[in-house]
Amino acid sequence: MNGFKDECGVMGVLGDNEASHLVYLGLYALQHRGQEACGIVTVDDDKQGKVLRSHKQFGLVSDGFNKDILSRLTGRLGVGHVRYSTTGGNLVQNIQPIVYQSSENGSIVLAHNGNLTNAETIRKELEASGSIFTSTSDTEVISHLIAKSKKATVKEKLISALQQVKGGYSLVVAAEETLYAVRDPYGLRPLVLGKKGNAWIVASESCALDLIDARFVREIKPGEFLILKEGQEEASEFPFEKKPEAFCSFEPIYFSRPDSTQNGSAVYIQRKRMGEILAKEYPTQADVVVAIPDSGVPMAIGYSQATGIPLELGLIRNHYVGRTFIEPSQAIRDFGVKLKLNAIEGVLKGKRVVVIDDSIVRGTTSTKIVRMLREAGAKEIHFRVGSPPITHSCFYGVDTPDRKKLLAAQITVDKIRDLLGADSLGYLSNAGLKEALSDKSQGYCMACFTGNYPEDICAPISKQPTDADGPGYFASK
Ligand code: SF4
Repeated sequence: MNGFKDECGVMGVLGDNEASHLVYLGLYALQHRGQEACGIVTVDDDKQGKVLRSHKQFGLVSDGFNKDILSRLTGRLGVGHVRYSTTGGNLVQNIQPIVYQSSENGSIVLAHNGNLTNAETIRKELEASGSIFTSTSDTEVISHLIAKSKKATVKEKLISALQQVKGGYSLVVAAEETLYAVRDPYGLRPLVLGKKGNAWIVASESCALDLIDARFVREIKPGEFLILKEGQEEASEFPFEKKPEAFCSFEPIYFSRPDSTQNGSAVYIQRKRMGEILAKEYPTQADVVVAIPDSGVPMAIGYSQATGIPLELGLIRNHYVGRTFIEPSQAIRDFGVKLKLNAIEGVLKGKRVVVIDDSIVRGTTSTKIVRMLREAGAKEIHFRVGSPPITHSCFYGVDTPDRKKLLAAQITVDKIRDLLGADSLGYLSNAGLKEALSDKSQGYCMACFTGNYPEDICAPISKQPTDADGPGYFASK
């Protein structure tokens, strides 16, 4: 029950008469990646040539799309996006996919997951040379760089635009009859390729392919520029300077759905392994293991299986707390976490409880949960966290608070345990996380735990201690 906000999800379909319906269903599966806004743009033909059809809205995919809207989104090529605003804020003009149209380049549709770390600098330069931006989104700089490019083809212009940006991007682009799928050279954000019959499918996560009965072909590689055309094999290029792979480790910890496959392994298996290693690092005498739903559940299963301590549903989540919930008054605002979670006294009363969460960001929710467990009669509370202490903010598309608000950047693990009111507190170590991810072929970004940002994107900020320095991962009364 992480305090991080979700990021974004992208989806593209080429070569199916029902492209908009497939994109819609794919976005449905990717809804966990962003609930603020969503959109679909299709490319169709009419007498004048290519025509774009678009629907964008605030809210969930299920809120606004209906049969009529989808049937108006005709065409065999479609791109979709679910958004949580990491840059640019909550403005209607920032809802993606974004569309760029010109007589020279035709229509270009872009959907982006990630964050461009040099977007502001590029934007200032472009504005100084006359470009007029219509949104505050970092993604719009890509379309302006395409417009400025002197290269001959749209493909070359897109490559030259992306060669100028830094940061994290998984990008789906529709231009004329082609679908492009691109990952930044570090591979910070996920992107997979699938096929449904003869149609090409691109999506942030494989769970979107499963929903539409598409076949998982492969993950798109870091730095890969993939060109998809109807009736043709995929063409792959690597036009960017090679960088060390740095896939976001928070995808398997928290963001991605457990039924998605990443780096050859189900996210569920990786998450469960985090719990098993947590159990090895911090075993404890307890009567029951309780998960903080949802992402804490596979970790708690792993912890329970590794220790033999039974797993129980001691906390139940209310899945219907919408983003529109209005807290009526200060007096009842302190109900806080009870809107989302409730404890089962019959499971907890008089018990020594190991409670497992995926991470601690600000610590506010964790403190309330410990209080809730105590009120339900837990005799001892041993808090275990399936990731290392978060000490640094993310610049690559995850909306983390400023460092000043990251609890582990401010106080020691001992003090965090005090603040939570737990009997003991144990975080998965950096080495334990690496072991849980255990894919030797894949490099991971662990910058929010170490301060070691992928080079060339952002200068390292003052580093917190790492494994080598022997940081605090555990505290007990
Ligand atoms: S800094 Fe953290 S959240 Fe951001 S990409 Fe790296 S691991 Fe993921």
